Amino acid sequence: MPVAKSLTIRIKKQRTPLVLKRDYPLSLLYLEDPCYEEPTCCYCEQRFILGHTLWKKTWEHLNNDKTCEYLWNLAWAHWKCNQDKMHDNFDLQFLAQDIIRKNKEWEANHDFELSSEREKITDTHPHTEIDLNIAHSQVATEYLAEKINNTNPQYPEEDAIYSIVTRCRRLTGHGSAQAVRGYLKELTCSENKYAIEKVKGKKFIIRRTGQ
Ligand SMILES: [Zn+2]
Repeated sequence: MPVAKSLTIRIKKQRTPLVLKRDYPLSLLYLEDPCYEEPTCCYCEQRFILGHTLWKKTWEHLNNDKTCEYLWNLAWAHWKCNQDKMHDNFDLQFLAQDIIRKNKEWEANHDFELSSEREKITDTHPHTEIDLNIAHSQVATEYLAEKINNTNPQYPEEDAIYSIVTRCRRLTGHGSAQAVRGYLKELTCSENKYAIEKVKGKKFIIRRTGQ
């Protein structure tokens, strides 16, 4: 798996209202007011300058692990402050640990809001799930077509399951034996051209007679 280099747009979009709510609560109350709380850098507490190389806003991974995308690990910082922290500024690293502690406390006190936000994310992604199902069942169908033919009329079910899981993971990064078992049950039901046959206690997938 490649290491994530930066946050995806989806994660930024989902986390932005939560970071505002947590770190800049007044900004949400007084958006119309010129004196509203403008977001500032979590380290130096100075304003961001849009488009400025050093003082623009960046998504800060407080624990320095860019693959750790939990809300408690994310905050907004100047590009420069972020770089300073990563390059051995111990004061900033201690400060980051402090912020992580506060963020975790905040999450413990706002569990209800966070879980409703989490529901919103899953609601917006039913398609991804469906796309994966289609792609994975396609892999299963192709696998059986490839392995079971006139020369090789049967194939061990157990190996088919884990080989299909492996191919699914290679293709989409997802795949589980449980889901693949489901696809194989479907492909071997009486409506379809395959069936399961037990030989000496071991299950094999075969082609139905006449198919
Ligand atoms: Zn700063």
